[in-house]
Amino acid sequence: MTSRPNGEPLVRLSGVNKWFGELHVLQDIDLSIDRGEVVVVIGPSGSGKSTLCRAINRLEPIDKGEITIDGGRLPEEGKELARLRADVGMVFQSFNLFAHKTVLENVALGPVKVRKKPKAEAEGRARELLERVGVASQADKYPAQLSGGQQQRVAIARALAMEPKVMLFDEPTSALDPEMINEVLDVMVGLAKDGMTMVVVTHEMGFARRAANRVVFMDGGRIVETAEPETFFTSPRSDRAKDFLSKIL
Ligand code: ADP
Ligand code: MG
Repeated sequence: MTSRPNGEPLVRLSGVNKWFGELHVLQDIDLSIDRGEVVVVIGPSGSGKSTLCRAINRLEPIDKGEITIDGGRLPEEGKELARLRADVGMVFQSFNLFAHKTVLENVALGPVKVRKKPKAEAEGRARELLERVGVASQADKYPAQLSGGQQQRVAIARALAMEPKVMLFDEPTSALDPEMINEVLDVMVGLAKDGMTMVVVTHEMGFARRAANRVVFMDGGRIVETAEPETFFTSPRSDRAKDFLSKIL
């Protein structure tokens, strides 16, 4: 499933450190993710999971260390940043769709504005993606007319429309009613099976077991433990992971 055609991982963080004032929020993070790999990031609230995702996408600058996407170091700003950032798709807990645009427009907009695709081509592709996430029949509605689960699937289609090399998901199901969680997770499992490289912050163990190659456990700004999902959930090594799992299981 994972392949390294040029020996370089698709995403590589080395010696990444970040402070918010006195708070050392990311501490010596080393993490390499291969093409096609699915990494689930798990850990207590405040452990730095969201900051890690935002750093990978350069929404949050880091103070020390290096992050590369497909071998390219992320620059601080400018055109190059926009291009590299487009390689990283992101889906948040809150769906963040444009309220005054239709579902179809939400998905087609980025490719037209950023990738300079002709509108008809972008809309054709948007319809395919809406089909893939199972909301094709909602294309002409506005986000508020959709359920939370449908909106999150549109948000996934919108991220995919930019043809990212890696997709980051930051607690994509934690704002959803329970009955809608699986429809979103099923789409994500499908993406994983199709070979998408993914970093997923979630406490959904079912997803981790079905789709993840690795679980990364964070606590206090550090990666405390990395393991295959089954190993992590059945026999975590660190006391901190044991303690955390005893609370969520
Ligand atoms: P998680 O996603 O694991 O819950 P976060 O990455 O959101 O953790 O936050 C890690 C820590 O950094 C928390 O203590 C949080 O309060 C703090 N933090 C997050 N964003 C900021 C910010 N913009 N300014 C100051 N502190 C922040
Ligand atoms: Mg978070």
